[in-house]
Amino acid sequence: MTTVSTLPWATTNAAGHAIGLYAKWTPELDAKIEAALQRLRDASIQHGDGLVQSSSLGVEDMVVTDLIARTQLPIVIATLDTGRLHPETLGLLPRIAERYGRDVEVFAPVADAVIQFVRKEGEDAMYKSIELRKACCGLRKMEPLGRMLKGRSAWITGLRREQSGARSDVAFDEDDGNGRRKISPIADWTWAEVWAYVEKYAVPYNPLHDQFMPSIGCAPCTRAIAVGEDFRAGRWWWEDSTKECGLHAKS
Ligand code: SF4
Repeated sequence: MTTVSTLPWATTNAAGHAIGLYAKWTPELDAKIEAALQRLRDASIQHGDGLVQSSSLGVEDMVVTDLIARTQLPIVIATLDTGRLHPETLGLLPRIAERYGRDVEVFAPVADAVIQFVRKEGEDAMYKSIELRKACCGLRKMEPLGRMLKGRSAWITGLRREQSGARSDVAFDEDDGNGRRKISPIADWTWAEVWAYVEKYAVPYNPLHDQFMPSIGCAPCTRAIAVGEDFRAGRWWWEDSTKECGLHAKS
């Protein structure tokens, strides 16, 4: 069983730069990088055009994008623009284009459905109940994800086992419950290893990670975490839930 991390920096640093706070190269990391690359190569050969990287634009996904782009794998990179993302998150799209010469395919919710929902439930309905929060995630994330994955046989994620109890058994390659393979090439990496890779390869990342937001989602549903809190404590912090939106729910 993988240990779910709290963030050790929080006990010693009041503010700082994510790389300086977290990065630690480990003796295993070279082998983990090579293994992750091999998983991506194998998936690319096996699934061809049926493969997509579904990126949240979080730091783990940026590492996976870097692995794909640096080795010139012909894998489509895509993301969801929910309409409620931080500007810093969206700011990664031109940075990816500039750095890697890759365009990210962006999938947005159906405008009419969002307008109707906001008109009926309000702009910040997610705070009223779990049901309304899930309805918002359904409109803004699940439906566009369905379009992203339509016709695909596999998708790539940046999930890591260390991120939460609900993710402690993430496999490198598993059935997503809908007949596709879900491939998580860095499932066994630690937070320190992710940042060591970012430092070594100068991977672009969301500056909000420098502000104690290890896990970044939509702006109204993400806050910085405090000393000793779990990695995903800043997501839907007002809920006593598993901190998942449905994208990676177990079927
Ligand atoms: S994370 Fe929040 S704003 Fe984003 S889709 Fe879910 S409920 Fe809506």
